[in-house]
Amino acid sequence: MTTTQNSRPAPDESGGVPERPTGGTAAPLPGEAGQVSEKEARQVAEAARESTWDRPSFGKELFLGRFRLDLINPWPRSDAEADARAEEFLGRLREFLTTEVDGAAIERDARIPDEVFQGLARLGAFGMKIDPAYGGLGLSNLQYCRALMLAGSVSPAIGALLSAHQSIGVPQPLKLFGSPEQKQRFLPRLAAGEVSAFLLTEPDVGSDPARLATTAEPTEDGTGYRLNGVKLWATNGTVATLLVVMARVPAADGRRGGITAFVVDGDAEGITVERRNEFLGLRGLENSLTRFHDVFVPKENVIGGEGKGLKIALTTLNTGRLSLPAMCVGAGKWSLNVAREWSAERVQWGRPVGEHEAVAQKLAFIAATTYGMETMLDLCCRLADDDRNDIRIEAALVKLYASEMAWRIADDLIQIRGGRGYETAESLAARGERPAAVEQILRDLRINRIFEGSTEIMHLLIAREAVDAHLSVAGDIIDPDAGLGRKARAGARAGVFYAKWLPTLAVGRGQSPRAYAEFGPLAGHLRQVERASRKLARSTFYAMSRWQGRMERKQAFLGRVVDIGAELFAMAAVCVRAHAERDDHPENVELADLFCRQARVRVDALFTSLWDNTDSVDVAAAKRILAGRYADLESGVITPPADLPWVTGWSAGPSTATDVRRRIPPSR
Ligand SMILES: Cc1cc2nc3c(=O)[nH]c(=O)nc-3n(C[C@H](O)[C@H](O)[C@H](O)COP(=O)(O)OP(=O)(O)OC[C@H]3O[C@@H](n4cnc5c(N)ncnc54)[C@H](O)[C@@H]3O)c2cc1C
Repeated sequence: MTTTQNSRPAPDESGGVPERPTGGTAAPLPGEAGQVSEKEARQVAEAARESTWDRPSFGKELFLGRFRLDLINPWPRSDAEADARAEEFLGRLREFLTTEVDGAAIERDARIPDEVFQGLARLGAFGMKIDPAYGGLGLSNLQYCRALMLAGSVSPAIGALLSAHQSIGVPQPLKLFGSPEQKQRFLPRLAAGEVSAFLLTEPDVGSDPARLATTAEPTEDGTGYRLNGVKLWATNGTVATLLVVMARVPAADGRRGGITAFVVDGDAEGITVERRNEFLGLRGLENSLTRFHDVFVPKENVIGGEGKGLKIALTTLNTGRLSLPAMCVGAGKWSLNVAREWSAERVQWGRPVGEHEAVAQKLAFIAATTYGMETMLDLCCRLADDDRNDIRIEAALVKLYASEMAWRIADDLIQIRGGRGYETAESLAARGERPAAVEQILRDLRINRIFEGSTEIMHLLIAREAVDAHLSVAGDIIDPDAGLGRKARAGARAGVFYAKWLPTLAVGRGQSPRAYAEFGPLAGHLRQVERASRKLARSTFYAMSRWQGRMERKQAFLGRVVDIGAELFAMAAVCVRAHAERDDHPENVELADLFCRQARVRVDALFTSLWDNTDSVDVAAAKRILAGRYADLESGVITPPADLPWVTGWSAGPSTATDVRRRIPPSR
C-alpha cells in the first residue's frame, strides 16, 4: 500500500498540496494525479506514516539491538470471560461451516451461495469485531482470527470475504476514526449482515497511492462531494452495500484537500460495477471493477477529516493486517494434517514416504513453521487485545512472514503429495480418492504475498521503522537537500546519540551462558536472539554509515534486515509460549526447539548474504535487461500479443458497461 523512504521531512500530513511549504526543503506534494516523481511518492507515503510511539514496541526495540523479552514475557493472557463468549460463537460457526457450507461447490461454481451469506449474517459473522453496543459480537483480535481461520479452512473465499469486510472494509476505520453519529448510522447495518468493501486501488494506483486519480470535488452548496473515478480489484465490491472509498479532494483557497476516506452507499446513483474479476485462486471472491460517475456523497460521510485518508488506511491495517496471517496459519494446520496422514500411509521404495529423509525434512519444516506462524499471530493478537504495546511492527512482520512461509508450506505439501498434489480435489474424488484440495491451497494462498502490502512493500515499510532511530538523529546529515547548517547540527546530535548507543551493542545478556536459564532447553535460543538482535543493529548502523542517503535504494539489504527481524521475533515468541504452556503441552517445547533450530540456519544465511551477495551486479544487470540488451534470449517462443496496453487508461464519464452487481436477498 505504501512505500518507505528515508527522505524527510514530510511536508504535509494530508497527501495533498500543503497550505504553506514547511521549511525550505520540502517539495510540494502532487496536488493531482498523473506523473508523480519517486520523491513525491515517498513524501506521500511518509506523510501517511504514524511517526509517534506512545507505547513500547518489542519489534522496534529488537531492530535497535535491545532484546526486551519483558515486553512479551510472561505470555499475555486473554480475558477468560470474553473467551468463553467467543467459544460459544465459534462452536456455532463451526457447526454451520461443517453442515451448511460446501467449499468444493464454491470452488467449482466460483460463487458463495446467497444462503451462505445469509447464514453467516444470522450467526453475526459480519459483526464479529463490531462493538455489542452497535449489534456486533465484539470479539477480541485473538478470537476474530480464530474465526477467520476456521472459515478459511472450509473456503478461503469465505475467509477473504469476512476479512476484507471487517479488517479493511467499513467497520475497522469507523471503529478507529468514525464519529459517534457515523458509528450509529452504519455499524448496526453491518453487524446485521450488510457487506462492506475497501476501494483504494485503481488501474494506475497499486503500491503507490500518490498517483490516486479518483476525485472528490466539493459541491458548490457545501453539502458534500461528487466522486469520479475507477476503482480496481475491490474485494466484496460486487456484493457490498457500504464502501470505504479513497478519493482526492482538490486543494483550494482555505482548503488543504488531499486523499480522503469516504463511506459511500454501494447503491448510490452513478456507481457502476463494471466487472467481476477472476483470479488464479480465491475463485469465490466477489471482486469488482467499479466506476464512480458524479456520485454524490454527503459531507457527513467523510471519515476522520479531509486529507486523512492514507493515514486512516495505514492505521486501520495495524491490526487489520492480522487477518491474512490467520488464513495462512489455517493453511499451515490444514497442510500439516494432509502431509502427516499421507506421508505415513503412502509407501514407496519399501517405506512410508515420510520416512525418506527428503520428505521427512519437509514434514519437519511444515510442523515447525506452522507452530512459529501460529505463535507469532497469537502473540500479536494478545498484545493488541491488552493494548499495552504498540504492535504495528509485529503485525507487519507476521503478515510478511506468514504469507511467505505459508506459500513455501503449500509448495512442499504439493511435492510430498507427488502427482496427487497437482490434481484437483474433484478429479481425485472422481477416482474414488480423498479430495484433498492441495493445488487449490497453493493457488488461494498466492495472493497473500501481494495484497494488503506486497512483500516488497512490507520490507520497505518495516525497514523504515527499523532505521527510524538513525533517521531521527542523522536525517539531515543524509538528506541531500539539507543545507550545511542543518547538516552540522545533525552531526552534533548524531555524535551524542551514537556515543551512547554503540557501546550498548557490544555486550549483552546473550553472552552469559546462564542467561534465560528459567527457559530450560530453550534458553540457548533466547541467548541467540539477544546476540543476533545486537548484531542486526550493528549491521544496520554500518550500512547507514556506508551508504547514507543511498540506503533507501538498498532494498535487498533492507529486505534481509527485516527478514532477520521476523525470524528473531518468531524465535522469541515460540520460546515464551512453549515455556508458558509446558505443563499442558510439553510436546510444544520440542516444536519450539525445532522451529528455533531451523530459524537459526535461515538467520545465519541471511546475515552472510547481508554483505556477500550479488545485489549490485543484479541491479546493473536489470538496467541492461530493461534496456533490451538480452532480448534475443526471448526468441523461440510466442509471447503475449502486444496489441493491448499493460495498464488501461480510463476517462471520466458515465459507464457504458452493464452493471454486474450482485445483491444478497435478506435472510428469511
Ligand atoms: C485478489 C485481489 C484482491 C484485492 N483486494 C483489494 C481490495 O479489497 N481493495 C483494494 O484497494 N485493493 C485490492 N487489491 C489490490 C492490491 O492491494 C494490489 O494488487 C497491491 O497493492 C499491489 O499493487 P499492484 O498490483 O498495482 O502492483 P504494483 O504496485 O504495480 O507493483 C508491481 C510489483 O512491483 C513491486 N513494487 C511496487 N513498488 C515498489 C517499490 N517502491 N519498491 C519495490 N518494489 C515495488 C510490487 O511489490 C510488485 O511486486 C486486490 C488485488 C487482488 C489481486
